[in-house]
Amino acid sequence: MTTAIVQTGDPVLRTPAAPLTKEEISSSFIQDLIAEMRDTMRAAPGVGLAAPQIGHSLQLVVIEDPADAKTRLSEAQLAKRGRTHVPFHVLINPRLIPDESKSVEFFEGCLSVAGFAALTPRFLSVKVEALNEHGEPISIDATGWYARILQHEIDHLNGILYIDRMVSESFSTVENLQHFAET
Ligand code: ZN
Repeated sequence: MTTAIVQTGDPVLRTPAAPLTKEEISSSFIQDLIAEMRDTMRAAPGVGLAAPQIGHSLQLVVIEDPADAKTRLSEAQLAKRGRTHVPFHVLINPRLIPDESKSVEFFEGCLSVAGFAALTPRFLSVKVEALNEHGEPISIDATGWYARILQHEIDHLNGILYIDRMVSESFSTVENLQHFAET
């Protein structure tokens, strides 16, 4: 089942999301919500989705990057971005620990700011500690595009959008990005 994705301007995207207890994680409500978020992300299509983006102010994120031909990027463009296949997984109550020694800028978009993109600086490498969909602790070391996805999605849980971090003069429609920007 898919759900409409909330667009920028809705206060739920600017509200810090609530953490989940282990009891809540195992509830059918949250397990059903995870399936709904997975289906909605895949249908969009997107590589990550945070619960506030479908109207639930909860610290819950789903991520999956097929990094395949559907991205409309060439092999060289995928490699430049450090973009690799990331299997479907769930993050609950995540804590981001960035390696602040190196940042990189690429065009980034958001399903909640549909139709636009902008150059956005992100840390190249991050560590994330979180719970999975079974309430078990997990630890992730990520670099490249996966690190970017993690920073973008965890920002959503803090009421932050990429437009708060972008190089504002690069803000572009996706259509113009494909015509004018060097990617
Ligand atoms: Zn987003």
